[in-house]
Amino acid sequence: MRTLIENGTVIAWDGSRHHVLEPGVLVFEGNEIVHVGTDYAGAADTVIDAAGRLVIPGFVNSHLHLTDTPFTKGHQEDVGSRSGPSNTQNYNALYKMLPAVRKASEPEDQYAGAQCSVAELLLSGSTTIVELGYDYEIGGGGDIAITETIAGMIGASGIRCYTGPRYRTRYYGADDSGGVFYDDYPNGARERFEACVAFCQDWNGRYGDRLRTMLAPGQIDTCDAQLLKDTRRYADQLKIPIQLHAGQSPFEFSRVRETEGRTSVEYMMETGLLGPDFIIGHGQFMSDDGNIGSMAKHEIDALRESKTAVCHLPWVKARRGGVINSIQKYGDLGIRQCLGTDNYPLDMFHEMQTAAIVCKIVEKSSVAATCEDVFHMATVGGADALGRPDLGRLAPGCRADMVFVRIDTPRAAPVYDPFKFLVLAATAGDVDRVIVDGNTVVEQGAVLTIDVPEAVRRVNEASKRVWARMDY
Ligand SMILES: [Zn+2]
Repeated sequence: MRTLIENGTVIAWDGSRHHVLEPGVLVFEGNEIVHVGTDYAGAADTVIDAAGRLVIPGFVNSHLHLTDTPFTKGHQEDVGSRSGPSNTQNYNALYKMLPAVRKASEPEDQYAGAQCSVAELLLSGSTTIVELGYDYEIGGGGDIAITETIAGMIGASGIRCYTGPRYRTRYYGADDSGGVFYDDYPNGARERFEACVAFCQDWNGRYGDRLRTMLAPGQIDTCDAQLLKDTRRYADQLKIPIQLHAGQSPFEFSRVRETEGRTSVEYMMETGLLGPDFIIGHGQFMSDDGNIGSMAKHEIDALRESKTAVCHLPWVKARRGGVINSIQKYGDLGIRQCLGTDNYPLDMFHEMQTAAIVCKIVEKSSVAATCEDVFHMATVGGADALGRPDLGRLAPGCRADMVFVRIDTPRAAPVYDPFKFLVLAATAGDVDRVIVDGNTVVEQGAVLTIDVPEAVRRVNEASKRVWARMDY
């Protein structure tokens, strides 16, 4: 079936950058875009009027967590003493709150959380999501049933997803003296790793190829070298991407140096992880001082030449008092970058605003992290990091993944520069229609594939159960 979208303003892709077609038309057949231009004289089975709308490529939200996010809302900030490590080092959230939430979440709670999160993602225009699943302690040894149930829900929702249940050699937590302890799982949780690899093999390409899998070793400081080398081996064998949490806290950076005798980037280099299919989630503390310019030349060269991508998550950093220093520096070094929301809100408009503004403040410059660059990161940046030239852009041959954003509103009018509107002013509330793989999944601001009031009711109930079990 051929669908024509007309009368809108289209953000099209010319092969190297996004550009504005006003008015623009877009035609897709099945799940593939077949024409983007200023006019179209051919036939169509369906016509969608996009008057008063920007038609943009769907966001590629390159790092997030579906299952536990709803249970941490409002609990990670304004917690702890103002003079303690919690203030500056992500301490309470990473080493106390998140392990406790994961321990207190039963499968039905995780399902409720994940479904609500997917609804939020669709409503805010993420058409491709990269979900890093829960850690070992929730799934247990080789049990992958919860992951499969949630992957089934993701498939039914109509969203496009890369999913990878996490595994690691050891876990961590806060100790009584304000530090971090590490403890190995029995047998290095080898069973869990093997179950994750089997899941990746079995589920890759399901739902008409909307669901793909990835390997997601937990965090750089919780994985031994053998596990990371095995991760690279299986990724090559299965031809799937890898994402690893790294550069999240100064504790992590010094721990890697202590136990591995090298920096985080060197550890990733020497275990063979770097490559065009490898994403570093966070990438904030890649040196002692958290300044990207402080990395050694051989580290910068390795990241750039391997085409490794760094996924930035600026809002979760900012609300805990941290900044990436900076997106502009990474860009100037020629290192690939993408953008994700991590936990809450799961809203890429909000994340783009934070990315641009934080970088401008850090660099003390209004021309750092331009709106066009940030929009590129949120779309093409993520697609390229996943090795997908058919995502994140509107051009013939690409998947029909797009979002209609209202510009017939007081907030938008007049729109001189769509990129500036999208990054500096638009909100999730401006999203009108979302199409993934040629199917409309959000229409007039409502999700068609999920009973949203019921999903909200269920997550509220689940939250009560989780917090009743919490030991925090
Ligand atoms: Zn994360």
